[in-house]
Amino acid sequence: MPLFPKCPACKIGEVNNIKVGWFIFKKEKLLCNYCKAEFIPQDSLYPRYLLTNSDSKYNDEILTKAEWDFIANNGISNLEYVKKYNKLPILILKNANIILQKGEKSHLHDSARLYELRVETKYKTKSSGRIDAHKGGLFTNPYQSIDVHSESLPEISTGLKPVASGQLIMTNKRLVFTGEYVSRTIDLKDIVGIELHAIGFEVVSIKLARNLVFQVPDAEKWAEYIKVGVRR
Ligand SMILES: [Zn+2]
Repeated sequence: MPLFPKCPACKIGEVNNIKVGWFIFKKEKLLCNYCKAEFIPQDSLYPRYLLTNSDSKYNDEILTKAEWDFIANNGISNLEYVKKYNKLPILILKNANIILQKGEKSHLHDSARLYELRVETKYKTKSSGRIDAHKGGLFTNPYQSIDVHSESLPEISTGLKPVASGQLIMTNKRLVFTGEYVSRTIDLKDIVGIELHAIGFEVVSIKLARNLVFQVPDAEKWAEYIKVGVRR
């Protein structure tokens, strides 16, 4: 059975799992039999595929199977829909570990890693003494280059403290993170800021002492959805 009965890129061909190469070099590929567009599966809670080798406007996009199906039928991606209509598509949750309240609808769900922003922490370096972490900023402090050790560390280790891995769910009321030992619930009405960062997005809530940063497969989408959800 083809993955897409109609190719989302050219809307003519069929996308099938075919074997390419020879002998031990044989590999499976999801290719369109007309335009040769390729779909590469990505690791995620919901099946997602990267489109490559195409001149479609969605080339280099990673979207869910449901979104590709919609695009194949002349639809648009969920993010485009949200930006265009200022409305959030409803997501039917699967394998989610939360109980929705009465009247609560889910919009996004994916695997996520939670970090806390080290806002007020001071850092010591070997040669230059104290360096203040920039409030709210994740960029590397230029003075840190003095310290050979911290120079080799990614910005995560200086600005962010990893807390837990788990799942993140956005509903029309809440943002819920559930990890093995840690969970966080943020009411949308308390959110006063959303910002994109190199590793994900940052949430500022009037109820939280520290800003939270979530690493998700598609941070831009999450930020856009939350902005729309908060405005409603
Ligand atoms: Zn095609």
